[in-house]
Order: sequence, then structure tokens, then C-alpha cells
Amino acid sequence: KITLFWFRRDLRLHDNAGLYYALRSGNLVVPVFIFDKTILDDLDNKEDKRLTFIHQNILAIQKELQTVGSDILTFYGHPTDVWKELSEKYNIAEVFTNTDYEPYANERDTAVAKILRAQNAELKAYKDQVIFEKKEILSGQNTPYTVFTPYSRMWREKCNDFYLSSYPNKKYFENFLKWSGSTIPTLQTMGFKSTDTDFPSSKISAELLENYEKARDFPAMEGTSRIGIHLRFGTVSIRELARFAKKHSNLYLNELIWREFYQQILSNFPHVGKGKAFRAPYDDINWGYDKDAFQKWCDGKTGYPLVDAGMRQMNAIGFMHNRVRMVVASFLAKHLLLNWRLGEAYFAEKLLDYDLAANNGGWQWAVGSGTDAAPYFRIFNPEAQARKFDPKEEYIKKWVPEYGTDEYPEPMVDHKMARERCLREYKKALDRS
Ligand code: FAD
Repeated sequence: KITLFWFRRDLRLHDNAGLYYALRSGNLVVPVFIFDKTILDDLDNKEDKRLTFIHQNILAIQKELQTVGSDILTFYGHPTDVWKELSEKYNIAEVFTNTDYEPYANERDTAVAKILRAQNAELKAYKDQVIFEKKEILSGQNTPYTVFTPYSRMWREKCNDFYLSSYPNKKYFENFLKWSGSTIPTLQTMGFKSTDTDFPSSKISAELLENYEKARDFPAMEGTSRIGIHLRFGTVSIRELARFAKKHSNLYLNELIWREFYQQILSNFPHVGKGKAFRAPYDDINWGYDKDAFQKWCDGKTGYPLVDAGMRQMNAIGFMHNRVRMVVASFLAKHLLLNWRLGEAYFAEKLLDYDLAANNGGWQWAVGSGTDAAPYFRIFNPEAQARKFDPKEEYIKKWVPEYGTDEYPEPMVDHKMARERCLREYKKALDRS
């Protein structure tokens, strides 16, 4: 009998919970990765940077496995088909993996578990992506928190060294099955092209975290860690990162807690992952759809320089600074009154660090429909935000070189008019409830 370990959003051999339990299961372990056709068929952009990132990391894992005489089995297909084939072909004892909390992943894993069960094999999923999952941090009434501050207080109270300690995978590397000769499909064979993206590093310095509080709100500075993509695909361990944060920056740790807060919101209130507002009355707002206006927002041609700089940064490099994400999201929903799901989907397509829970949480926060909602009548003034957070216009000039010339467009909407229109439309919907 063999044991398999299925990599998904946990692309590392070290401090990997599910892999650790697989290596200690008593059977030799074969690692598996599936380029998931169900997901890839939905990607219109055939030069998706994230796929290049995944592919590079699978190659790196293979290289590391080869140093201990092992290899990785890779497939391109629908996971249910792949597991059906594998479970019929091999005598599988167990399949180990790490829990993925997104709605699609839940459904996929339920289906795979059923296929495996039919062959007397079990799918075993472990917590690896977060320090605390789903129902581990509950209020006194045993209900999930829907406000961040008390959640974070409880999170910190519960988070001791036990939860932050790493899994010593390396000690058990001799339990990988010794074999070789696996070929990893190229991106071309899957209909994609690789990109020459300069991905952010997975290593961050103590100095960055020590300056984080001062620098993190200014988009022109390199003041944040840009580690999102590594958290998304598991090329860093959250335990290691949280330990480092605890040592060097309380505020940075707070951001990691925000990440877990939104993950538990998605797990406990799955309607937010299915196109619904966290607060139902916000679904009654008369959201519009204006193709031209949406296109101007996407292209960074709104005539509001901070908004335009943010959108162009994301279009060019797949990253946008958090402060600017808040401003562009608010602009789409409140200034343009366009359906925020359009913006949410556009971010999903472009961001290297795209994560359903954090993206949805960020959008609903900006719209006012989410947890921790600021009162809806607080509407960001994009010009005031620019003066405050990009006072020397360095960020703006970097991404909008024609700013200040005749080529730069006039504002597509007047701030005062847009503000009043937004308040009117929000009030109409919210007064009804
Ligand atoms: P740092 O400031 O260095 O923070 C470190 C890590 O903490 C981040 O990588 C992230 O994992 C976590 N984090 C920080 N802020 C938040 C937050 N507000 N909510 C949840 N986690 C946070 N974050 C994503 O990871 N994926 C998304 O798809 C995403 N979409 C967003 C959409 C909108 C409209 C908004 C307002 C925010 C969104 N965020 C998202 C949150 C935040 O903007 C990014 O996590 C952050 O900008 C990533 O840059 P960084 O890695 O340099 O962050």
C-alpha cells in the first residue's frame, strides 16, 4: 500500500502539516500535484502570472525531492478524474492533504473523498493555511465573530507557542518513496504561456517589519511585505511568518489576523463567497452597469490620479498597495455606483495575491456591506487621499506619467455630485430594510 500527499495551496516541503502527517503514517509517501483543469479552463488570460508562479514552484519541489531520491507525480486534468484513475490503479492506503476553505475546494474535496472511499482509501485534510480555522475562535456565545477587534483579541489570547511551532518535516524525508523519472507538463502543453514576472521574495527582513507602522500607508514606499502570493500558494509557512511578526511588529501580526478573520467569515458565512452581501440590505442598492465607465476604471483613465495609478500598478505588475485598493474599490462602488462584483472579479483576475476571502472582505468593507462596516456615509475623497498618502505625488507620477499634461483626462465624475448620488441611492435601499 502507498500513501499519497496532494499539494494544493501549500507548495513547500517544510513545515507543511498534511505532509508531516503523511510522512509519519507508516507507509512510503508519493507527492502529487494536479494542474486543475476545472480552474484553468476558466482562466481567459493565457499568460496568467500566477500559473507561472505555481509551475516554477512545482519544479522547485521536484528538485528538492530529487535530492532525497524521490519525485512528484503531476497531472493536468479534473481532480475527480485523476483520483478515480489513481485509486483504481494503485493500492492506496490514504491520501493526505491540507484543508482549503474556498467553496469550490470544499465541493471538490467532498467529491474526491467519495471516489477514494469507494476504493477503501481515505482523504485526510489538515489545518495548515491558518493558525486558527473556522470555529476555533468563537465568542462567549459560541458564535463566530463578525467584528474584527474582539476576534483579534481572542486570537491573540489563544495563540501560544504550540500553535506557532513548525512541523519538523525534514526529519522524516526518508519516508518518501524512492523513485524518479516524472515529467511535469509544460505550460504550453496546457495551453498557457509562461511570463517573465519578477515575483516578490518570500523572505522578509526584520527591518521591514520594524518600519512597517511608519511606512505601510504610503504607496510610494516599499513599506509592506508583498508576501500575499506566498501566503496564497503556501510557499511560506504561516506559522513561521506569524512567529517572525510576533517578534518584530505587532501591527504586522494584526494584518495576518485580518487574513484569518476574513477566512473564518468565508467559512462561517458562505453566502459571501456566492455573490451576496454580508449585510443583505446592501443587495437592494441599485447597482449599475455602464460598460464604458467600468472600462475607464479598469484602464486607470478615470481622471482621478490616485485611482488611475492604482489600477495601472495592478494591470502592470499584479500588485496594488492596500491604501489604494481601498480607494479604487470605494470609487467604483460609491463614485460610479457600479456593481462592486465587477470590481471584485477584476481584482480576482489581476492580483498575484488574489484570495477569495480577503478580496471579498476588502470589497465588502469598501462598499460598506461587510463586517466592520464603516458608516456608509463616509466616502473617500480620492483627491484628499492622494494629498495625504502620496503628498509628493511620487506614486502617481510613477504609474501615470502623463499626469499634469493635456493628455491626462478630466475627472469622469464630479466628486460632489457623485457623493450626493451615492448617499441618495444607499439611503433609498437601506431605509427600506
Ligand atoms: P502587508 O501589509 O505586508 O501584509 C501582510 C499580509 O497580511 C498580506 O500579504 C495579507 O496576507 C495579510 N493582510 C494584510 N492586510 C489584509 C487585509 N486587509 N485583509 C486580509 N489580509 C490582509 N489581500 C489578499 O491577500 N488578497 C486579495 O485578493 C485582496 N484583495 C483586496 C481587495 C480590496 C478591495 C482591499 C481593500 C484589500 C484587499 N486585500 C487582499 C488586503 C490587502 O490589501 C492585501 O493583503 C495587501 O495589500 C497585500 O500586500 P502585502 O502582502 O504587501 O501586505
